[in-house]
Amino acid sequence: MEKRPLGATGIEVSMLGFGASPLGGVFGPVAQEEATRAVYAALDLGINLFDTAPFYGATKSESVLGEALVGIPRERFVLATKVGRYGAANFDFSADRVMLSIEESLQRLRVDTIDIMTCHDIEFVPIDQVVNEAIPALHRARDQGKIRFVGVSGLPLRIYRDALDRTSLDTILSYCHHTLNDDSLLDLIPYLQAKQVGIINASPFAMGLLTGAPPPEWHPAPESLKAACRRAAEHCRARGAELAPLALRFAVSNPSIATTLVGMRSQQEVEQNVAWLQQPQDTALQAEVLEILRPVHNVSWPSGNSERARG
Ligand code: NAD
Repeated sequence: MEKRPLGATGIEVSMLGFGASPLGGVFGPVAQEEATRAVYAALDLGINLFDTAPFYGATKSESVLGEALVGIPRERFVLATKVGRYGAANFDFSADRVMLSIEESLQRLRVDTIDIMTCHDIEFVPIDQVVNEAIPALHRARDQGKIRFVGVSGLPLRIYRDALDRTSLDTILSYCHHTLNDDSLLDLIPYLQAKQVGIINASPFAMGLLTGAPPPEWHPAPESLKAACRRAAEHCRARGAELAPLALRFAVSNPSIATTLVGMRSQQEVEQNVAWLQQPQDTALQAEVLEILRPVHNVSWPSGNSERARG
């Protein structure tokens, strides 16, 4: 598995990262044994980055991942989790909650240090609180050796400039913006590189729109986008191919993006995704799919409080 440098952190991460939100049951139930097999398979195949959050499955993802990683030498994995989001509408980026959250995550993940701590979905709260409270608290935790690097995540791309114009960050975690249907992250890359920020891209399947199977009930995309992704999947099937491998290879293709987190819940999905990466992209089919998706290119959905939801 190819490894790429993560900004100026000095660490190298596998180009495919393990997104552990499915281990919290957000795409359907997952047993601990299956989760553990998935994590072992990922490590065996060279995946070294694991991303979770207290929000995923109301802390279940962190607990299940922590259990799966018991006994694995700490230097074999880069562990990323988040602070600030605890429910669909439950956010708290106060310094006290951030410090408590770190302790809770360390316990659930059963480690002494978390490598990357990300402020989770910052578009939902005033940027002042993130910059003036959460990030200074994270820097204190870093100085105490509890975490190593600090980042932010969220859907609207403007949040990254909002934060980075006012503070320094090691990483950002953007999702659903470097996929077959939406490549708007590309415009931000020069700015992020100038700031030496490690770029973590997530959701190569657009949170289930590009797997070829129906997306989860809660998927926030507008119907026009869901319908176009269905047409793209049907087109691939008619050509005797699948949409998912095309989507995965597209998402990881830009070397300026250090890693792409894919949500995985079984050994079979891990092995399948790694195998797909080893196959060459079908560029003719990719061009046909991009043409089908052109009417919905870069169509997204609102996320966050009203004045900062888009952009
Ligand atoms: P995704 O695009 O990676 O899609 C995940 C879905 O694809 C799941 O249903 C999974 O079971 C399925 N899948 C995976 N491999 C498959 C295969 N080979 N064949 C068929 N289906 C397959 O979306 P995601 O899980 O939301 O995103 C990946 C990770 O990125 C998350 O787990 C999380 O760690 C991170 N993330 C973070 C944020 C944030 O910070 N706000 C937002 C989104 C994602």
